[in-house]
Amino acid sequence: FPAGIYEHFLTDDKKVIKEGIGVVNREERVLLPNGNTKWLLTSKLPLYNGKGKIVGLVGIGRDITTEKKAKQELIAAKEKAEESDRLKSAFLANMSHEIRTPMNGILGFAELLKNPRLTDEQQQQYIEIIEKGGARMLNIINDIVDISRIESGIMDVSLAESDINELLDYTISFFKPEVEAKGMRLLLTEVLPKERAKVVTDREKVLAVLTNLVKNAIKYANEGTIGFGCNKKGPTLEFFVKDTGIGIPKDRQQAIFDRFVQADIEDKEARQGAGLGLAISKSYVEMLGGEIWVESKEGKGSTFYFTIPHDDKIEGRKKGGINASVESKDPQTKKLKILIVEDDEMSSMLLEKFLEPFAKDILQVFTGEDAVDICRQHPDIDLILMDIKLPGIDGAEATKQIREFNKDVVIVAQTAKALSGDRQSMLDTGCNDYMTKPINKEDLHETIKRLFLKS
Ligand code: ADP
Repeated sequence: FPAGIYEHFLTDDKKVIKEGIGVVNREERVLLPNGNTKWLLTSKLPLYNGKGKIVGLVGIGRDITTEKKAKQELIAAKEKAEESDRLKSAFLANMSHEIRTPMNGILGFAELLKNPRLTDEQQQQYIEIIEKGGARMLNIINDIVDISRIESGIMDVSLAESDINELLDYTISFFKPEVEAKGMRLLLTEVLPKERAKVVTDREKVLAVLTNLVKNAIKYANEGTIGFGCNKKGPTLEFFVKDTGIGIPKDRQQAIFDRFVQADIEDKEARQGAGLGLAISKSYVEMLGGEIWVESKEGKGSTFYFTIPHDDKIEGRKKGGINASVESKDPQTKKLKILIVEDDEMSSMLLEKFLEPFAKDILQVFTGEDAVDICRQHPDIDLILMDIKLPGIDGAEATKQIREFNKDVVIVAQTAKALSGDRQSMLDTGCNDYMTKPINKEDLHETIKRLFLKS
């Protein structure tokens, strides 16, 4: 036989030769003389000489490497889909719990507030609980929106010169009361030399990551000190947040940065949270060109680190997303005639309260059709707050129709949908600006100042 071929059919050769039986349709992996491996579908038969003695074997092999690989890939894809399905279900179950818990508190204490015999102190206490529950809900919703934005690739990076020390100072003054209330200490142990503290980066994202790490340190430690700060390490800035908390087992130190994964882990120590914070932080840090990691010992504590490039010039960086910083001065704008288009009565009432300082007159309608009509009757309206999801014609359509006869009125769209490219699509229909619900009073005031200062 040609020696090469004989050597290739390895697995069943001995059997064929010894027992004299054929082997048909076997899948086997063979090593080629060049060192590569291939999958063959083989059939082998003993080869007899004239006297009926086995002297070797004949075999045929068909190369099925490609089919085999495709099959393996399919199996892997199926397993991955099943795994991701399982994680999503676990994630949803956890999310449902995370949303129900604060909701429970909000509705329960709202019910209790109805009691006319409550003392002032009790009332204040219940209101505070409701506020906290609302804030917690909003956190979860923000996390979900952020992760969706990240996944759909529409999260922008806006670079501007930012003072890292100012950001560290802000963090310590923000969290100090909470940490001290827990009987722990919060220390800012490393800051940058003043002349190095100005960096071109996305301040909001750096702050979000730092905030998230400090929040976790507070959440997962019950005593001791939380230390944080920032050092310059060559061309990068390295932030750290160190706690003396419960620590993280080695085999989870990677997984905690994955989205959806945390929820699936049997976590006896899990304290409230949707398990998205670190996944969002990781995406932010990577968007800024850095890395994030943790060093931790169970029962001793954890230190989270993240880096960002230490760029002090804007050149060479993506300029597209640079935001002009909003003036924070407080110029007096004229008093406005305002139309609120909103089908939800509670939201409409809230807007009315928020708008009071700017308003000389506030009109309210509940549908898109009425919005168009009332604009025809009142050409002197200065500002319209336009809800998008409305019964009948929606906010986008109403805006288009209003623009046909009134190009000047300022229209601010407000919607609960913060997910996709609807910002641009609303601006395209003729809105001047866009806000996401729940509308925050400060943001609304900033937006109005910006719009009316410009014109
Ligand atoms: P969440 O805290 O909302 O569950 P995160 O994504 O922020 O979600 O964190 C994921 C997991 O990592 C947490 O559930 C917790 O188990 C672990 N973890 C995060 N930070 C710490 C910390 N400082 N100490 C101990 N465990 C932590």
